Amino acid sequence: MLSELWNDAAGGFHPVSAPDFLPEPRLREVQLRRLKAVVARAWAHVELFRARMDERGLTPDSIQRLGDIAALPFTVKTDLRDTYPFGLFASSMGDVVRLHASSGTTGKPIVVAYTREDVDVWSEVMARTFASCGLHRGDILQNAFGYGLFTGGLGAHYGAEALGATVIPISGGNTDRQIMVMRDFGVTAMCATPSYFTHVIERAGELGVDLHTLPLRVGVFGAEPWSDAMRQRIQQDSGIKAFDIYGLSEIIGPGVASECAQQHGLHVFEDHFYPEIIDPETGAVLPDGAEGELVLTTLSKKAMPMIRYRTRDITCLIPEPCACGRTLRRIRRIGRRSDDMFIIRGVNVYPSQVEAALLAVEGTLPHYQIILVREQGLDQMIVEVEVTPEVFSDKIRALEGVRARLAHAIEHILGIRVELRLVEPRSIERSQGKAKRVIDRRHI
Ligand SMILES: [Zn+2]
Repeated sequence: MLSELWNDAAGGFHPVSAPDFLPEPRLREVQLRRLKAVVARAWAHVELFRARMDERGLTPDSIQRLGDIAALPFTVKTDLRDTYPFGLFASSMGDVVRLHASSGTTGKPIVVAYTREDVDVWSEVMARTFASCGLHRGDILQNAFGYGLFTGGLGAHYGAEALGATVIPISGGNTDRQIMVMRDFGVTAMCATPSYFTHVIERAGELGVDLHTLPLRVGVFGAEPWSDAMRQRIQQDSGIKAFDIYGLSEIIGPGVASECAQQHGLHVFEDHFYPEIIDPETGAVLPDGAEGELVLTTLSKKAMPMIRYRTRDITCLIPEPCACGRTLRRIRRIGRRSDDMFIIRGVNVYPSQVEAALLAVEGTLPHYQIILVREQGLDQMIVEVEVTPEVFSDKIRALEGVRARLAHAIEHILGIRVELRLVEPRSIERSQGKAKRVIDRRHI
């Protein structure tokens, strides 16, 4: 075990991070070798992939350079549903040691599989994630990601153990107990969805626990898009450093990419996941720096290789090298998920845009909801946002001032008028996991 071989000091370098710093030519060599192997494996064992390769007249030998990946067919989410439950597996069940499944919002979930080696790779990339966020042996991690079929809980769990940290597998929910454990166990780091952590901050305040005085110093947050404005709020209100991590079950779970101490883009663990940015309309590969849809290929997955999986996440690859010295390319934080987008009066709107506008105005709390309704054939967008007790108890004029500033901020970003409702603290439902930001009542 890595943790037995190494006792990493605070701020030191953990050997698990070594691949983050591979010289670029060596990294590209590793990628090409692994790409050839994974394509050969998928071709030999996954019927759907082989059929699509045949249609294009391609074989595993068609991959001679990294750029040849652009000729390969995409994989999309419906491929996983259409082959439910095990149709994309490249290993026999005898070699599969774990299954996870996504919580399907409609119909059947998607199922993902791991061999022993896959689980080890997952632990490795999560250990690298935590190291990148400044965790080390001796840290006490409260893991509030949900345990179960969702990949968050177990992914973070094994990664933190591989790093040598102490894990508290508390899972999500029961906020009072979370706060008691955090205080009594001397917790130094926490994994959660950012929206759940804002609830923890709020509840701690109600219980008279000042998070600034606790040893808690790092938050490792993911599983939903969150804005920089939300990060500022969280860091201010809790005194921790809040890091963004990225992943998805179809690829491995959490552990695909992580921020480093620079908090400026997320390094993709490129030796295991090959990133491309494509034009979502044409499918053409775009150069580094251009915004488009993130496409990922698993370079080392055995049980369920994913070739050119379309994530629906909109971002770009940051071309400049990072000050931390990692050679892994970074993706810009995901603010937009094409699945989250809604269209109102012809305008494309992402919840994160609304969030950024709301939190830029003083007097608001990081709890909001967007409600879409249709009135007399016309779509209306209602934004409910909680405001501080001070604003709420103040004279009507103060409330009106905040409302006007918010309306202006949103109108400025979206170019459309919205109805703003300022509501009292605690009036919007809190989530234990991913927050439900948008309620669409237009088709009811
Ligand atoms: Zn960096």
